[in-house]
Amino acid sequence: MICENITTKNGHLHFNNFDVVDLAKKYGTPLYLMDENRIRKNVHAYKEALNKYFGDSALTLYASKACSFMYIYKIMMEENIGIDVVSSGELYTAEKSDFDLSKAYFHSNNKTDEDIRYGIEKNIGYFVVDNIEEALVIEKICGDLNKEQKILLRVTPGIDTHTYEADKTGKIDSKFGTAIETGQALTLVGEILKLKHVRLYGFHCHVGSQVFEEDVYERTSKIMIKFFSQVKETYNFETLEYDIGGGLGVRYVDDDPSFNLDTKIKILATCIKEECKKYNLNVPSFRIEPGRSIVADAGMTLYTVGTIKKIPGYKNYVSIDGGMTDNPRFALYGARYSCFLANKMNNLCNFKADLVGRCCESGDIIAKDIMFPSDVSRYDIVAVATTGAYNYSMASNYNRLPRPSIVMLKDDKDFLVVKRESLDDIIANDII
Ligand SMILES: *Cc1c(COP(=O)(O)O)cnc(C)c1O
Repeated sequence: MICENITTKNGHLHFNNFDVVDLAKKYGTPLYLMDENRIRKNVHAYKEALNKYFGDSALTLYASKACSFMYIYKIMMEENIGIDVVSSGELYTAEKSDFDLSKAYFHSNNKTDEDIRYGIEKNIGYFVVDNIEEALVIEKICGDLNKEQKILLRVTPGIDTHTYEADKTGKIDSKFGTAIETGQALTLVGEILKLKHVRLYGFHCHVGSQVFEEDVYERTSKIMIKFFSQVKETYNFETLEYDIGGGLGVRYVDDDPSFNLDTKIKILATCIKEECKKYNLNVPSFRIEPGRSIVADAGMTLYTVGTIKKIPGYKNYVSIDGGMTDNPRFALYGARYSCFLANKMNNLCNFKADLVGRCCESGDIIAKDIMFPSDVSRYDIVAVATTGAYNYSMASNYNRLPRPSIVMLKDDKDFLVVKRESLDDIIANDII
């Protein structure tokens, strides 16, 4: 199986030991499932590796854009890790879940004045500043409120991660951050150090997502630490925090690679310590911001099969009661998934079809060329694995489809953490 929390028993698919056919019956479809045990296990893996190789000043930040709702911030709070937020909406959700905002980092390449004021008023731990305009707004608002604000500066190390075009963010021509190579980042540091209310703590970079390549984070760190040394030489500023961003990959399909997190962090820590030694720098306190690799394999989506369309000599379609509204990742960038007919797991799969949604878009596809049992039929339950990241958080109401509910699975308990939207929710903001 694609992940160890997925098993088969009595012909039914099980997720975290729950029969998903029963869950579909109990809660209706489409339905997001989340495995809390798996989320915590993924968090523990980061926490333990960071502690082991970077010491107790290191902190894991959950990049909450991957999947944001109140209960998930409660988990991160209990796990005592930090979070990234990228909007007032995510910040508000965290605040309402009683998350300690001193451990929150506010990202985004274009924070509005309202975002900035809101973050400052809520005593957010850090802004990860992307550009000078934003730093000046923080300076102004902090001046008005007579406050100080900690920041990291986002810079671009010019690394190409060889993933999908939309996932590359560490390149020089990215819309995110300020480039090291052009000298702009060094100039910006000088301008920021002149500000009275803004306290620069260190630097952030994020080179991409769904990263598997061996040495991406080491190559990045070499460029970053050389930059820290230039900053020290130029301004006598010592970098206190180094935030390497997120992006570690997860397995969606059987031919995706896998890696050992402990080994990866160990190699990275060795590299960072060596580079700091080379430039005679203190090793900064380390931050990493996983999103996908915390929640992706803790998620599964269930659907009910509707129409089966066979076009002899051409192709076949299996239609389900959700689609790009609950999972737009195929439509956005051709993402791949492992799919199962959850109530017929022992049947031979020899019927090839595209798994498609119910939206009025030909691009409304969940996965192409999936092998189903030849007796796939209306009312069967389809399970799509590894949907915990960038599914619910990217969901929409296109065609006025209500967003599905989220059911959390923890030990032997299943419970709602997000209610299914109703038709009344759909018109809640309409005025006639
Ligand atoms: C999206 C993002 C992350 C998380 O990326 P994943 O691929 O989900 O791990 C971390 N940091 C920043 C700045 C991001 O934009």
